[in-house]
Amino acid sequence: MKFKDMPYRRVSFEEAKAKYEELEQRLLDAKTPAEALEVLREQDTFTKELGTMFALAYVRNTLDTTDAFYEAEQAYIDETSPRLGEYEQRFLMALLESPHRPALEKEIGALYFTNAEIAMRVFSPDVIGELQEENRLTTEYQKLIASAQIEYDGKTLTLAQITPYHRDKDRKVRESSMLARAGWFDAQKGRLDSLFDELVKLRAKIAEKLGYPSFVELGYDRMTRNCYGAQDVAKFREMIVTHIVPLALRLKQKQAARIGADTDTGAGKAFLKLFDDPFVFPDGNPTPIGTPEDIFAHGKKMYHALSPETAEFIDVMLENDLFDVLTRPGKAGGGYCITLAAYKLPFIFANFNGTADDIDVLTHEAGHAFADYRNRDAFPHALSAPTYEGCEVHSMSMEFFAWPYMEGFFGDQTEKYRFSHLESALTFLPYGTMVDHFQHIVYENPNLTPKERNDEWLKLEETYRPWLDNSMPFYGEGRRWQAQGHIYERPFYYIDYCLAQTVALAFWALAQKDYAEAWARYMRYTDLGGSDTFTNLISRAGMPSPFGPDALTQVARTAEEWLEK
Ligand SMILES: [Zn+2]
Repeated sequence: MKFKDMPYRRVSFEEAKAKYEELEQRLLDAKTPAEALEVLREQDTFTKELGTMFALAYVRNTLDTTDAFYEAEQAYIDETSPRLGEYEQRFLMALLESPHRPALEKEIGALYFTNAEIAMRVFSPDVIGELQEENRLTTEYQKLIASAQIEYDGKTLTLAQITPYHRDKDRKVRESSMLARAGWFDAQKGRLDSLFDELVKLRAKIAEKLGYPSFVELGYDRMTRNCYGAQDVAKFREMIVTHIVPLALRLKQKQAARIGADTDTGAGKAFLKLFDDPFVFPDGNPTPIGTPEDIFAHGKKMYHALSPETAEFIDVMLENDLFDVLTRPGKAGGGYCITLAAYKLPFIFANFNGTADDIDVLTHEAGHAFADYRNRDAFPHALSAPTYEGCEVHSMSMEFFAWPYMEGFFGDQTEKYRFSHLESALTFLPYGTMVDHFQHIVYENPNLTPKERNDEWLKLEETYRPWLDNSMPFYGEGRRWQAQGHIYERPFYYIDYCLAQTVALAFWALAQKDYAEAWARYMRYTDLGGSDTFTNLISRAGMPSPFGPDALTQVARTAEEWLEK
């Protein structure tokens, strides 16, 4: 079904509550495992329908944040879904305590129950009011970012629209456009401070009410971390500092020399201006050739050439209009892929801006969508996708599997694209890890003042990005993190990108030697969906764990060799 034809209807709180209560009662009454399984199937179908309505409201609200109808629907969902959590939880409790649980575990595996136990911990009816407040604050942050109107180049631009100027060939354009961006953020800094401060205090309160020592443990549980903990992540961060930061520093020194940026700031000092950091080549960054239509036409060709499975997938996506990629005023920023489970289809949201980011929509977001599509029949539906770092492996690896087809997107700039893609994958790791480190500091010390938080960020910049000269309004005060939506909206999400990038780089390194073998392992990984924990999925696909001692050193070596050539 085409996206625009998918009917939306509000599922009222009362209707959903009644349904969950009925299902709970029938589960309690189930006399046989078969009866219990039947109830679980029905619950799964209902949850998929409900999730699809939530997703339709979310997508249509983000497509046009000025549409009053879907704004009201989103507000209704924000208000009622935390209250609904109570009834979902009662159903899960009945399932976890069911005498048929051992038989059900045999049928659908133990992971569903492990994850349900985690889900039980993160919610209690006692915190409904706080969860509603948390929803309201994160929605306000999202709206504030979407409302950005920046006067530049004689135009009024959104944040997505001004981004290409930050990579302009003309250094003055890069500098002045970054100043315009910084100026807009600087004007919002009071609200950005208070919004985050409210969120941190609120999250600490929720954690306390739920009986956690701090929000850190709750944050991990919210991310359903079921196979590693904060200590593993801390070790991973150390490995990044030891193995990747020095490599990133070497790459940034070469970049500065290549683009002719000033490097005479003294030994050990930051040398790369914020507005030079994203500028990779003296003759400009690689940009896609052709119109959005051309990009999609080549994307279709690429997925047809890659495998029969991806061919079927891209045809379904295009036939059903499951992409919305053009930037418009009022459209929310960023990009995402969301599942419309009841239709067994994904949807991709993006903001094309004429840079190489546009191609990521057809590789990164399509990687998510492909995995979603491959696992559309999973039961229970919760097992269709792994935890988030596992999902980011789908997308970040697809970016690399798309390498042989990049000529059609970049023409004679293809080698430049590959170089900057690989280089940015490596230099992203320190940034992403720093975001995680920052969140640990913030939630371990919820009483820091906004100023103290910014100071912590600046200190982390010196450890993780010693090359970067942040001297500019807003950024110079250690506020870069306030432009990173995940920090407001999805605490502790960010390390998932770093873990996934490490695995994606391992797929890339293998593909350099044996592309067919790498793709076969990727398909094995993807088709396992969310049937196992992240670390088990990686090992079942035959790939090294990102927590292992060698994963980072090996990819760093292979990647640096490739970049040298
Ligand atoms: Zn992603």
